[in-house]
Amino acid sequence: MSAVAKKSIEERIDRLHAGGISDLHFDLPMDLYEKRDRRNVLETEFLPELETGNIGVIGVAIYIEDRYLPETGLRVALDQIARLYAETERCDHFVICKSYREILKARAANKIALLITMEGVEPLEADLNQLRVFYELGVRSIGLTHARSNAAGHGGAFAASGSLPEGLTSFGRDVVRECERLGVIVDLAHINPAGFDEILSLTTKPPIVSHTNVRRYYDIERNISDAQIKMIGERRGVIGVNSVLVSPREEESTLDRYIDHIEHVANLIGIDGVGIGFDFFEFIYRQWPESRQKELAAKFTTPHFIRDLRNHSHARNLTRRLIERGFNDEQIRKILRNNWLRIFKEWLKR
Ligand SMILES: [Zn+2]
Repeated sequence: MSAVAKKSIEERIDRLHAGGISDLHFDLPMDLYEKRDRRNVLETEFLPELETGNIGVIGVAIYIEDRYLPETGLRVALDQIARLYAETERCDHFVICKSYREILKARAANKIALLITMEGVEPLEADLNQLRVFYELGVRSIGLTHARSNAAGHGGAFAASGSLPEGLTSFGRDVVRECERLGVIVDLAHINPAGFDEILSLTTKPPIVSHTNVRRYYDIERNISDAQIKMIGERRGVIGVNSVLVSPREEESTLDRYIDHIEHVANLIGIDGVGIGFDFFEFIYRQWPESRQKELAAKFTTPHFIRDLRNHSHARNLTRRLIERGFNDEQIRKILRNNWLRIFKEWLKR
């Protein structure tokens, strides 16, 4: 490719990124919590990559690791939120947003909007009052479970079959109804197939799956089937494509395969149904001792990180490849940002 052609593609990426990229799943709070004795972690360890990738909105997930459960789940969740507030207070490039209007305002000021999400309702301790408390603290999206079972329901298996056949518990159903009433986005990522169906029957707003992959390319029940994708599409929902489960095979875990997932969803339900849920967690994984990495592999699977899409600074690689594969500007803007913005507008209180 000539230097002139290269320059024009880079300028096109600049224009497409000007409004910022929305990524609906990032394990930031647990890392801030583990580094709670340090200051300015957000500014020194995360801001440079986020700025390089032009990230505009991030769903930052409260997640409680097994070792804190059950005794200190609530406490650790509160501490994670405290770290988020303390760190954003020190770094004015970030704003915690609780409404659609606040997100737009943050973006207009060129700040990174953080939307607090929860991956697994363990911190609620089966008490609906706690949902109200976390809502007041700023939680605006909730996925009922991670891969395990809890008081609300059951996670999907990291296998082609074998998830528990039960749907939600009565507490899980209460959480879903109360979320929709409060204006907390209900996220179907990780839920088992029976729970997936039940959540759709309990809600009326467009459903989301914040970070997942399609079973066509990685056939595990933690991912979503074509039938499930169509159910999301019928309700005008959005599916965020995950970067760590694009293939069971390392050699097939490529940027092109990531885009195959985008294309598959778009082919089934249209471009309005696709978003980004990168789920970058290599930075956490690398901090673990080998014994813990092995534990993850035994319990779930070995994550295959995509060489040129392994952290937020690589977002330009994705956009460049989308252009090379023939996506037009309007389609790319929808994938990178606008589909999620529509969801925020429909779910969150103004
Ligand atoms: Zn997850």
